[in-house]
Amino acid sequence: MKCTFCGKEFTPGTGKMYIKSDAKILYFCSGKCEKNMIKLSRKPRLTRWTEEHRKNKKQ
Ligand SMILES: [Zn+2]
Repeated sequence: MKCTFCGKEFTPGTGKMYIKSDAKILYFCSGKCEKNMIKLSRKPRLTRWTEEHRKNKKQ
């Protein structure tokens, strides 16, 4: 299972599942990722420590 926010692989059952109001299901490896995406509305692409940011940087 992959974290929706940081892109890190994690074992199902250890992370968190979040169902958005539009019925989209998001998976988070930790409360840190959940907080950043849900509460702080941060974009993975613009957040330094995510895989999305690293990929974007290489291009
Ligand atoms: Zn994560």
